[in-house]
Amino acid sequence: MSTQFEAWFFNNRLPQIRYMMLFTAPLYMLYGFIEFQMDLPMPELRVFFHGLFIPSILMVVFGMTYVPTFTTVMKTLLFFSPIVAIVGNLYLNVGTAAFDCFVPEIYLCMIWTLAMSGLSIRLGSLAVLVYVILTLLFHYSRDAEQPFMFLYFLWMLSSAVFGLVTAIFYRQISLSIYQQQQKLAEIADMDNLTHLLNRHAMQRYFHQSQQAQHLPISVLMIDLDYFKQVNDTFGHMVGDGLLVEFGKLLQEHVRRGDRVGRFGGEEFCVVMPNTQLTQAQTVAESLLAIIHNHHFKHVDSLTASVGVAQALTEESFEGVLTRADQALFLAKSDGRNNVKIFLPTSAVYA
Ligand code: GH3
Ligand code: MG
Ligand code: MG
Repeated sequence: MSTQFEAWFFNNRLPQIRYMMLFTAPLYMLYGFIEFQMDLPMPELRVFFHGLFIPSILMVVFGMTYVPTFTTVMKTLLFFSPIVAIVGNLYLNVGTAAFDCFVPEIYLCMIWTLAMSGLSIRLGSLAVLVYVILTLLFHYSRDAEQPFMFLYFLWMLSSAVFGLVTAIFYRQISLSIYQQQQKLAEIADMDNLTHLLNRHAMQRYFHQSQQAQHLPISVLMIDLDYFKQVNDTFGHMVGDGLLVEFGKLLQEHVRRGDRVGRFGGEEFCVVMPNTQLTQAQTVAESLLAIIHNHHFKHVDSLTASVGVAQALTEESFEGVLTRADQALFLAKSDGRNNVKIFLPTSAVYA
């Protein structure tokens, strides 16, 4: 769940990373251009570093947002590029009179790293810690003027707090949206009486199994016998309770990898990946025995009829269901409480 959320969260942030790169790259070019006009030491290095080098890295990150295989490299670049930018800033400016004009880049970098870059909170915080350590190291190693240090750090701390608070709340809000989305998806897949899967979810499971090559796939259509009489005798409430109990019984006795669903009414379906028709027939017969021997509330015993079909290669869910339904119809015609299979090759019922 947690790793699924992280992947979802990251994918949703990709456009944000993309736009941040797209806006930051020209900003750095402008930065390099302005610096070049000023009377500062190392003008060529400044224009190369801010006007070309940093924007190039940012554009590489921008390009990587379109290629999922480069995600790890992209995150590494996202982590290191602001560190490189700050090393450049400190190298070029610490100890000069102009440093005060350049220190805002460090504050912005902190907010950018934590709240805007798309890095995880952990990596973002680590990067911010590195900025602080680097700033301290450069100042002490160059014996730069110390009285302003407290103000630098006050603003650094504020930037880090603003960035961190934004990042945490953004993540929390996203987590709650994700959880609500998961809940809605669960409800959309669920039959609300029995809490089994509904037809739509069964169809999806069938297609997923097909795509994963879990072949052959067999399908059971199960219909309770004379259920109308049960309702007429005991009332709908009891009927509903029996449908729930019946669904649980099926769920408890199918194998791992099989899925049970209710298609409305008193019709149930089981999708069985990696199952030959004859194996599915055996499972269906054992289910009938279990149903027959189960003591249901109020009615004591219930029976059901089952139609079995195996999906042809690349057949649709509807296609195999139609044949399972035909087999079920025959099971009903043949007196109920039995299993019929639809043989795909000869189209003969057994
Ligand atoms: P058969 O052996 O031919 O399947 O007979 P049957 O009475 O089960 O079949 P039929 O299709 O004639 O009737 C199905 C009945 O299932 C009709 C209705 O009373 C009952 N039923 C369908 N949906 C529900 C439901 O959601 N709750 C309850 N309690 N009963 C339902
Ligand atoms: Mg019925
Ligand atoms: Mg029916």
